[in-house]
Amino acid sequence: MNIVEIKDLNVYYGQLQALEKINLIVREKDFLAIMGPNGGGKSTLLKAVLGLVPIESGKISILGGSNKKNRHLIGYVPQFSTVDKNFPITVIEVVLLGALNKGLSFFHKFSEDQRIKAEQLLKKVGLEKLADRNISQLSGGEFQKMLIARALMTEPKLLILDEPTASVDVKSSQDIYNLLGDLNKEITIMMVTHNVVAISSNVKELACLNVRLVYHGDPELSEEVVNSLYGCQVELVAHGVPHRVLKEHQEDNNVS
Ligand code: ADP
Ligand code: MG
Repeated sequence: MNIVEIKDLNVYYGQLQALEKINLIVREKDFLAIMGPNGGGKSTLLKAVLGLVPIESGKISILGGSNKKNRHLIGYVPQFSTVDKNFPITVIEVVLLGALNKGLSFFHKFSEDQRIKAEQLLKKVGLEKLADRNISQLSGGEFQKMLIARALMTEPKLLILDEPTASVDVKSSQDIYNLLGDLNKEITIMMVTHNVVAISSNVKELACLNVRLVYHGDPELSEEVVNSLYGCQVELVAHGVPHRVLKEHQEDNNVS
């Protein structure tokens, strides 16, 4: 069964068409990277899959069911975290919050099983030594790994990440892509990124989105495909293809 099936999807914000006629299938154990210019609808596509934006027309199914019914099968790391870095909360507490369903109060008491699960996940993402550290004392990369652990608390079948390395240094970005490659042995991943490191590492499929889906296929790009990606304005480094920098792309790639 396909993990995600998107058929003829159109999404508008008022008069503005953010997504046009998107058809996309994500299969089990895929690791799909979505690239494209700012404003190309990448975040909107992820939100549509999560059921967070209204759909004008088309259909999205998650493991054969509606995204409303199967939302719990998706773990999400949003582009702009709602976790306030200055909030006095520890790493393990943030991860535990991933287990909260809507309606449970913040002062909910977590079960022993949930604590064990949170500790296992911190180990998996390499943060076990930082479990009791205050989140204000994390590096950008550590913070993102914590959010990944939080997204995994509900044991999702699909992990969705929106620019997980946007404010992370190059070395930590590589760390995160290695971690995602490792997680991908068990879980399907859909990720928006501008980072070429991702494409040259563990990603299995590449999609380029500029309102329409300009490309979906092999990340090992041929010269011909690279030429057809002009509308995508992304910098692409492909295995076996000489380093190509597509023109308009300058401001997006500021890995700080
Ligand atoms: P990307 O993630 O590729 O940068 P987005 O999906 O965030 O693009 O945005 C796609 C387009 O939709 C942009 O033109 C953006 O300004 C617009 N947009 C995004 N969210 C909203 C919103 N909540 N209301 C109105 N317009 C929006
Ligand atoms: Mg975005």
